[in-house]
Amino acid sequence: MDFKLIERILALGNLIGQARLAYMEADLNLQVSSWNLGAMHLFGYTEDDTMGRFLNELIPISKQDLINCKQTQFLTCSHINCKNQEIQCDIFYAPIMNTKGEKLGVAVLAKDISARLKDKACLKQQEQYLKDIFGFAPIGIYHVDMEGKIVSSNPEYAWMLGYESAGVIVEQITDFAAQTFFDQEKADDFMFGVYEAEEVIRFRCRLKRKDNSYVWALCYAKATHDPSGRMDGFNGFSIDISDTVRAEQELKKVNEKLKMLSLMDGLTQIPNRRRFDEYLGSEWRRHFRDKDHLSLIFSDIDFFKLYNDNYGHQAGDDCLQKVARAIHETAHRSSDLAARYGGEEFAVVLPCTDAQGAMAVAEAIRANVKNLEIAHEKSKVNNHVTLSLGVATMVPGSDNCAEDLLALADKALYEAKENGRNQSISKNSE
Ligand code: GH3
Ligand code: MG
Ligand code: MG
Repeated sequence: MDFKLIERILALGNLIGQARLAYMEADLNLQVSSWNLGAMHLFGYTEDDTMGRFLNELIPISKQDLINCKQTQFLTCSHINCKNQEIQCDIFYAPIMNTKGEKLGVAVLAKDISARLKDKACLKQQEQYLKDIFGFAPIGIYHVDMEGKIVSSNPEYAWMLGYESAGVIVEQITDFAAQTFFDQEKADDFMFGVYEAEEVIRFRCRLKRKDNSYVWALCYAKATHDPSGRMDGFNGFSIDISDTVRAEQELKKVNEKLKMLSLMDGLTQIPNRRRFDEYLGSEWRRHFRDKDHLSLIFSDIDFFKLYNDNYGHQAGDDCLQKVARAIHETAHRSSDLAARYGGEEFAVVLPCTDAQGAMAVAEAIRANVKNLEIAHEKSKVNNHVTLSLGVATMVPGSDNCAEDLLALADKALYEAKENGRNQSISKNSE
């Protein structure tokens, strides 16, 4: 035999071995005459097991097909090999001919494609998972191109925005920013975040529905790139959080109401001592910065114990309510704050008010309470309920504090009581 031919046959054999192909030959009786390592791996038999045995008993091709084979045939099949393993393989088989065109036997080449089919099946399964997520997930999933057109959407996103179907949304939304954001400034932030900062965007916003109503949503978005690395749009995800936002808003309202209630006096429905302390503190700091006059009035019903003793506690409560309303209405500037300080004592904070102005307010309060003409026959100063008032004024500075103003007003009130009640006395630190 020619050397070159031998070399080529060896090279071919080598190649078949490297490619992990199974190679087998049989004579005209179909008795195996060649069985390589690849064939052993694929069909499970060793070379020794196969010598002299019929090829059709070892591989999944019938005797008839092997005998009748006149040209190269191909098939893909699934087969249980002698080790009871299920294998999938591509098989080529062809007649072995001599130079005179006479058939000497048959040659078979087979390749294990189990792994390839497995990968393909896995891929198909994953594709199905993704399809299911896209189709059934309770979140909106969509892709937007660089022109702002929605190019794909799942049904959930379409329903969220009030469109009949994913097809309709894809057809009708050609300007994502203008058509899907209820608040336009949010759209600008969003587009900047996705395209300029190239970050994963996550934020809450109101999405505009087809009928111009809105739905609260939590949105995520991330830019996408084509195979050459150029940005080609973004993937978006939106979750309807309207129920959560509504619950939050309700809770906020309840909390605000609770806070308001905690700062109101239950009996008189005017601010309570807590609110007064808070307000005086903040106004003190503001006046400290502005170097302005801050005044405070302390008022106390005269001989109220005698009123209670004479008319009863319920009448006492009614009286407190009327007096509170009168004081509240007299200190009418929006920045004035009248509060029930405790018992039958009321305090009024008068921002940006000097001593003269505060005295005028105190006298107006006194007159208005007197003019209620609530009978008080046991009072030693009048036939009606009256107030004594202490007025204090300060310009907050580094040498005084809010407690000084309180103490000064208290002192003025004490003097008003001592001086005969039903009167106002003013004190200031200047
Ligand atoms: P003065 O002129 O010196 O202020 O005498 P007064 O009797 O008003 O002062 P005193 O502090 O001796 O009594 C205050 C009374 O206010 C005692 C209490 O029964 C009454 N009082 C305090 N809080 C309430 C309330 O919520 N309802 C009613 N009905 N009475 C209250
Ligand atoms: Mg009192
Ligand atoms: Mg009193």
